[in-house]
Amino acid sequence: MPVGGPPLVVKFGGASLANPDKVVADIRALRRRSRDVVVVASARERVTDLLYEALEHPRSAAVHRRNLAEIRRRHPGLPLAGRQRLERLAGLFARLQATRAPDPPLADRVLSQGERLAVHWLSARLGEAGIPAVPVEADHLGLITDNAYGASCILFDRSRLAVQRGIGRILRRGALPVVTGYFGRSLEGRVATLGRGGSDYTAAGLGALLGSTRVELVKSHVAVLSADPRDVPEARAIPSLSFEEAEELAQFGARVLHPLTIEPARTHGMVVQVRSLDDPTLTTTIGPARAGRRNRAITVLRPLRLLRLRVPGGRQRPGIVAEVAQDLSGAGVNVVQLFTSSALLCLVLAPESVAAARRALAPMTRDSAVVVEGPFQVALVTAIGDGVLNDLDRLPADAVRGAEGFSATPRALSLAVPDRRAGTVVRALHDALVTREAP
Ligand code: ASP
Ligand code: MG
Repeated sequence: MPVGGPPLVVKFGGASLANPDKVVADIRALRRRSRDVVVVASARERVTDLLYEALEHPRSAAVHRRNLAEIRRRHPGLPLAGRQRLERLAGLFARLQATRAPDPPLADRVLSQGERLAVHWLSARLGEAGIPAVPVEADHLGLITDNAYGASCILFDRSRLAVQRGIGRILRRGALPVVTGYFGRSLEGRVATLGRGGSDYTAAGLGALLGSTRVELVKSHVAVLSADPRDVPEARAIPSLSFEEAEELAQFGARVLHPLTIEPARTHGMVVQVRSLDDPTLTTTIGPARAGRRNRAITVLRPLRLLRLRVPGGRQRPGIVAEVAQDLSGAGVNVVQLFTSSALLCLVLAPESVAAARRALAPMTRDSAVVVEGPFQVALVTAIGDGVLNDLDRLPADAVRGAEGFSATPRALSLAVPDRRAGTVVRALHDALVTREAP
């Protein structure tokens, strides 16, 4: 393990890498303050999107040529190892052209190239500035994940030893590891990505594996806001959040955090700071809950579809919820939200799952006279914050009107509303629970 106690893990998002001089200055300042620093890098801005586009056109040499040229242009001053990665990417594109549809591990291998290029590129910039940086590719390091390509989870017990050894070796030399975010090596030994925005999760995972007490996620000009500023212009940064609040926020669609990021932080008691590289006043600190603090944020998940099941006999039918859940999970349908009353069961689903859900429920409609209505176009608007259930009496009528369903826990209060009303509802809730409650 490192000499100077547990390292500080700092992740730089793709947009923040647009300004290498600022990133280098930031890292220099961090290294002055903390003895050991580990950097995690996302792909540079737009690079993952370009790789996705190439995968969507697996046979198109023209798209591949164009995107490869664009990716090359986004990495000026690549050292030799980085240029070799570019050549490898050209080879992967050629392989794509020879396959009809890439299998998920091959797709993940293509998607991982953005982060690989980023760590070679960033290490070179740091080296030029006199900081001895060592690029580290997480699969080679031994960051192990399950085999759920495209949305894999880090396997901590299987990764710990190799990660501690590999990172410790670099830190003991006084050097700076610059590790790829977003992917690891699956149990089958192939490349597996952690889902969009997965570099946050890599940073939290490495922090947990290295015994860190703090992880910093550096974005370009955002922290965690009380709403998406595209929906609510007066949204503001939330200075601090509990782990549980942050987890709900990420799950309910706040794009600023990858949904699995907070879990390793919470279980290891590690503080996560989200901060902006451009504006030092924009920071959010995520840590243990503190009594008496009131945070509220409004998120929206859309587009979604709602199916309404009328169940004759209602609750007198034992096991009906389990039966529905079983049929749906057997068909690979993920239920985003479930609202039930005595005779109604409302399922909120991703639009692309509706057809499979209807097929899976067909036997039940035939044999048990269950009636399926919909799909209705809905959005799921959620107010999040410890104690939010106490705000029920402040919900504006305008937010609740026409809602198709409602669910609440002490920390999250969700409304399924007609999709066309989503913007109105987000603003009404933000106004009632955030703006008007300002201290
Ligand atoms: N580059 C990946 C993405 O764009 C991972 C990340 O940015 O965290 O989703
Ligand atoms: Mg990215």
